[in-house]
Amino acid sequence: MKKGLKKTDLPRFIADVMLGSLSRWLRLFGFDTLYRNDFTDKQLIKLSLQEDRVLLTRDIALAKSKLLKKVLLIQSEEIKEQIKEVLLSFCSKLDLLNLKPRCPVCNGETESIKKEEIRGQLPDYVLFSNQEFIICKSCGKIYWKGTHKEKIDEVKKEILKNLK
Ligand SMILES: [Zn+2]
Repeated sequence: MKKGLKKTDLPRFIADVMLGSLSRWLRLFGFDTLYRNDFTDKQLIKLSLQEDRVLLTRDIALAKSKLLKKVLLIQSEEIKEQIKEVLLSFCSKLDLLNLKPRCPVCNGETESIKKEEIRGQLPDYVLFSNQEFIICKSCGKIYWKGTHKEKIDEVKKEILKNLK
């Protein structure tokens, strides 16, 4: 079930309580995604309307709500499939290639940071074995291109094959 979907604008999302893991992944892909494990249906609908966010939900009854303008019912229980459902519905190749990751923890924007600036804040082996780091502008958490990056690239590759 889909409603109000257009591929023209970069979408922003809000996800229901069952989609915590999907939310973190969408943030890593670079999508602005609101998530809290205690949002009520009422709050989800309100925020979706107020902030023009697509509601992602696994709840059929909620997806059917006449109040909602933008909603995507997530069918799969499997995370990779869920990511594909969202990205294939919304995003263009260009988006996917150009988006900067957002912080998976707080949804904040990130920026690149030089190794010299974070010396002492991360274990030496991490600093030693990685070259590229990003920092969350909101919560200050530092990330580096490790396992996440590989998994993201793998999913990206699969999705890009299916996108025009
Ligand atoms: Zn953060």
